[in-house]
Amino acid sequence: MARLVGIFGGTFDPVHNGHLRVALDVAEAGDLDQVRLIPCHIPPHRDTPEVTAARRLEMLSLGAADEPRFVVDDRELRRDMPSYTVDTLRGLREAFPDDVLCLLLGADSFHGLPRWHRWQELSDLAHLVIMERPATGTEMPESLGRWLPGRQADDWAQLRRTQAGLVLFQTVTQLDISATELRRRLAVGGSGRYLMPDAVWRYIQEHGLYCRGGG
Ligand code: ATP
Repeated sequence: MARLVGIFGGTFDPVHNGHLRVALDVAEAGDLDQVRLIPCHIPPHRDTPEVTAARRLEMLSLGAADEPRFVVDDRELRRDMPSYTVDTLRGLREAFPDDVLCLLLGADSFHGLPRWHRWQELSDLAHLVIMERPATGTEMPESLGRWLPGRQADDWAQLRRTQAGLVLFQTVTQLDISATELRRRLAVGGSGRYLMPDAVWRYIQEHGLYCRGGG
């Protein structure tokens, strides 16, 4: 039987409980076989105090370790250049030709979709599962509103019947945590405790990450 595989990309700079909880919510709601967590390259000009890709990957591995359905997938970091999601999905489609692929997107990311490279091809390769996120303040752009009708699924049973092409809005636990806000907090000496798994917070402290002059 075809497996249901979730794909959750992000900067994970650092991974936090918002990411992990919503990924688990989706895994449970859809009875997914696995969720692949895929850290992306970060453009060098981004405002982050020298946290390397290797460290983001280690933090993600620590954060995901206790959930058997989470698989950390470093395929984008193994390439020298930033990857387009459409190319990553194509690679996954080739690697898992028989599986149903579901691309997990926070609502803010979904609203920004028309700015993504060849975004209309994404749904040829996977279903899109949109997770509501608190305080995003973003709205669905018109182009997306025009694209959506006819693609929206009502439930997971519909997603299971085809390999790609549908969009499902999934309610998830509302956790108002963002990596940007976390980095701000850590930069001024604040604590990350209870906002991320303990193992990730310990790692950040041990390596002096995200604090001014740390790295
Ligand atoms: P930043 O604040 O640096 O942009 P982020 O916390 O949004 O980071 P990313 O790693 O860039 O995290 O996000 C990866 C994906 O996770 C995106 O689709 C984003 O919408 C989603 N996401 C992040 N935090 C949450 C949350 N608290 N609830 C729901 N979705 C989330």
